[in-house]
Amino acid sequence: MRYGILRYLYAAVDFLFPPQCLLCGEFIFSYNDGYLCGNCLDAVCAGDGPLCVTCGMWFESPEGAHHRCGTCTTNPPHFDCARAAGAYEGLLRTAIHDFKYRHKTALAKPLAQVLAERGAHMLPVKSYDVIIPVPLHPQRLRDRGYNQALMLAERLAGQWDVPVWRELLRRNRRTQPQTVLVKKERRKNVRGAFSYCGRPLDGKRILLVDDVLTSGSTVNECARVLKLNKAKQVDVITLARVR
Ligand SMILES: [Zn+2]
Ligand SMILES: [Zn+2]
Repeated sequence: MRYGILRYLYAAVDFLFPPQCLLCGEFIFSYNDGYLCGNCLDAVCAGDGPLCVTCGMWFESPEGAHHRCGTCTTNPPHFDCARAAGAYEGLLRTAIHDFKYRHKTALAKPLAQVLAERGAHMLPVKSYDVIIPVPLHPQRLRDRGYNQALMLAERLAGQWDVPVWRELLRRNRRTQPQTVLVKKERRKNVRGAFSYCGRPLDGKRILLVDDVLTSGSTVNECARVLKLNKAKQVDVITLARVR
């Protein structure tokens, strides 16, 4: 009964002071717990068109079934499956850029909301034993003050009731941002950049979290290290991926 009254009270507060979309500032009148308006949600999320079952790359043609892309067939990655909420362009690109480089950490909430919704749609989120964020180098962490991947991972963990392991996967050396490198250089750039120093991973199913997947070299190198430490499965979720 009490909760019934509270519900009406919250609804009245929402009506008088409607929450605003954290991306575009529009008022949100629908009764939900969202932080984004419907337009922004539609704009940042990829559709359900055919994609590579392994790396998650979208195929040009909107017709046909999911299948493995040529790259993953000839050169299978160390991770089992990677999925992204949307393409690294437009509104999503701007939001990630603001979140990462302009200290707009309030964006962690709406971006994690997008990630949680799309993630639950594409991956067996309840089956993971642990969530691990892609780490930053300690120097970069000090410069930025936060690890955006960890902020996302913590929110996913809260929603899905899966523990986050932080600081066990480490970045040993500073690497150049993958976005400024050509494809060939990316793999070399991250080779040997990560180490795992924690509890044994025997048989663990792991979900790696990052903000952007460029060529996949970074998460691939993380997955290689986790599998060397006996992880059974490593899936990857990112907010965005480069088309
Ligand atoms: Zn909006
Ligand atoms: Zn692929």
